[in-house]
Amino acid sequence: MYIEREDLKREFSSGLFSIITEVADQMGLECYAIGGYVRDLFLNRPSKDIDVVTVGRGIDLAKAVARKLGKKAHLSVFKNFGTAQIKYNDEEIEFVGARRESYNRGSRKPIVEDGTLKDDQNRRDFTINALAVCLNKDRLGELLDPFDGLQDMERLLIRTPLDPDITFSDDPLRMMRAIRFSSQLGFDIETSTFDAIARNKERIEIVSQERIIDELNKIVMSPKPSVGFKQLEQTGLLSIIFPELVALKGAETKDGVGHKDNFYHTIAVLDNISRKTDNLWLRWSAILHDIAKPATKRWDNRLGWTFHNHNFVGEKMVPHIFRRMKLPMNEKMKYVQKMVLLHMRPQVLVDENITDSAVRRLLFEAGDDIDDLMVLCEADITSKNEAKIRKYLNNFGLVRRKLKEIEEKDHVRNFQPPISGGEIMEMFGLSPSPVVGQLKSSLKDAVLDGKIPNEYNAAYDFLKNKAKLLGLDIKE
Ligand code: ATP
Repeated sequence: MYIEREDLKREFSSGLFSIITEVADQMGLECYAIGGYVRDLFLNRPSKDIDVVTVGRGIDLAKAVARKLGKKAHLSVFKNFGTAQIKYNDEEIEFVGARRESYNRGSRKPIVEDGTLKDDQNRRDFTINALAVCLNKDRLGELLDPFDGLQDMERLLIRTPLDPDITFSDDPLRMMRAIRFSSQLGFDIETSTFDAIARNKERIEIVSQERIIDELNKIVMSPKPSVGFKQLEQTGLLSIIFPELVALKGAETKDGVGHKDNFYHTIAVLDNISRKTDNLWLRWSAILHDIAKPATKRWDNRLGWTFHNHNFVGEKMVPHIFRRMKLPMNEKMKYVQKMVLLHMRPQVLVDENITDSAVRRLLFEAGDDIDDLMVLCEADITSKNEAKIRKYLNNFGLVRRKLKEIEEKDHVRNFQPPISGGEIMEMFGLSPSPVVGQLKSSLKDAVLDGKIPNEYNAAYDFLKNKAKLLGLDIKE
């Protein structure tokens, strides 16, 4: 973990940094690389976002550096925030003057004054985010680590530099950030920091939903998201930001019959799927696949616990959750709805024999998302019993083979009926009406059920017969 001063010096002597050093020295400004970039250097995680803090005149330094870099540098100045940003090739450097911050209770927006480097490090959220490396030539590579952040990196610990109650109450977003870093980096949260999150959880209410969902999505995208979700649950934050997920918690027993705890099941499914995919929306599908289990739970004297139609009810819950969470209300949401709706279908196929027509129907309904659906189903296996796991995986292997075989034969994945609604109207001289829909869907069913081949002539004959039954005349 430790990096020698000489190595740090070398690290910060390259291209861009050498120009910052030169310009800052000419202007007589104390200047440091700080925060995430320095942290990630020690953790060996490549980072392209560089934060530079100067004692005084951050914007002036940015302007002078941009001039020196020439045309390829794009400078943006945010006067209100006292910051400036340079984009240069694929790197982004943020410049800010060192500042001291104080907070009002009603807002996470601080009152800002100019300050020293130490003041600036005090306002940082975690010890591992407060490291600074001097960029001035005579002190190049000097590490300033006032809160033992380096040691915390070695101990794999998230800890606030100052009193955690004050840190979290000042800016409650930091509670989400603590859990996010823990989940992303696989670090523990130090006990008193963790306890302070639980104590200050209600303060999350002053944070905008956009910022909350940003952090939650980073937790969802972390290598083992259950780490973050367990901490969100244990601190009580989850009840505030995502009560539907907490409702899955608990395992009731009646007459000696229990059901599994669907919260722990869900986050295990999420971990499973995270080993297979970086698709945020497939991960969200895992989070939401059983979301309607509490709403549909019943006790049946014959069957025990049942969750009938939890996939249908779950599909309906998705838009409400997406809207409240400020997740996108577009095709991404529709995809998650589809996954939730269909997540039991491959299992039903196994239970009820894998007939060609059932496979065609599933292919038609899932379309291009069929492979993702199979990944979700396989991730849904959370049994501890090795033999059972093997059996289930084997069954899904069978379903996958059958899906491939039928798709190669019948091409129903992006199925369009061989005769369109418009053509049906023309054939029978109909104007748009329910009977057109009826004919269209019976044609679709006939093809998917394998009653007729997916071809024009067969479809024409089928429609003619159907129309006769409905008493319609055909225009020959
Ligand atoms: P990532 O790049 O993974 O999003 P990061 O925290 O390093 O994580 P930023 O969110 O850009 O990236 O933050 C940069 C630095 O600013 C942090 O390392 C930390 O020092 C400081 N910082 C950011 N947000 C806060 C906050 N809410 N409170 C205190 N300090 C913060």
